[in-house]
Amino acid sequence: SLTIEQISKDLGGLPVLRAVSLSLEAGSRLAVVGASGSGKSTLLRLIAGFDRPDSGSVRIDDSLVSDDAVFVPAHRRGIGYVAQDGALFPHLTVAQNIHFGLRGRQRRGHEADAAAELVGLDVRLLKRYPHELSGGQQQRVALARALAPGPRILLLDEPFSALDSGLRNQTRHAVVEAVERTGTTTVLVTHDQAEALSFGQQIAVISGGRIDQAGSPIQVFQNPSSPQTADFLGDAI
Ligand code: ATP
Ligand code: MG
Repeated sequence: SLTIEQISKDLGGLPVLRAVSLSLEAGSRLAVVGASGSGKSTLLRLIAGFDRPDSGSVRIDDSLVSDDAVFVPAHRRGIGYVAQDGALFPHLTVAQNIHFGLRGRQRRGHEADAAAELVGLDVRLLKRYPHELSGGQQQRVALARALAPGPRILLLDEPFSALDSGLRNQTRHAVVEAVERTGTTTVLVTHDQAEALSFGQQIAVISGGRIDQAGSPIQVFQNPSSPQTADFLGDAI
């Protein structure tokens, strides 16, 4: 599970997040949707522990990972993170990329095969290098790498945005299937309203660094709490 209470963050002297609170049940999927510059990536980075909030707290599965006194670094939070471009290591094979976050016993097992299978990646691609894969295949490798260690939370920052619409839907379905099978709590950040509505069991609409509205897709869609949200979601119809 994930509980964020009242986190705020200034960057470059300007408020980027303002008293953001969110909570997410273990094993469920949240989509955070909002316009460019609304603070989505910053929110994800604070959950991941790549950066520290100015105030507020973050809890993952009931362990406090960030508040005024505590800061657990990213590598000890049990998170998986996928960025927009996947950011694979170009000099490592697909299998080595997927193995990267594993240690000891895990590394000697069949985790690369299992993780590849989980995201629907053909195991024959494991020996290839990233430049020998399509964009969609590269994103699946990034997802497999993030899932292989069995993270408590999977954080996805617009992981499908570089893909064409067919591949985008296909990859999104593969992720939903994978996180349902593993019971992984997942946060997807996107500026695509339709993607948010189809992925999220919960939706949070962020605007100007504040959560404008949060609820089930139907609640948010049928009862937009502000003209800005209505406007923004209107494009998805
Ligand atoms: P996009 O959809 O374009 O990815 P976003 O919602 O992810 O946008 P953020 O990247 O979180 O937006 O940025 C939110 C605001 O914070 C923007 O105005 C951005 O310019 C600003 N910002 C982000 N990082 C920094 C930084 N390191 N220094 C100064 N300002 C920053
Ligand atoms: Mg962003």
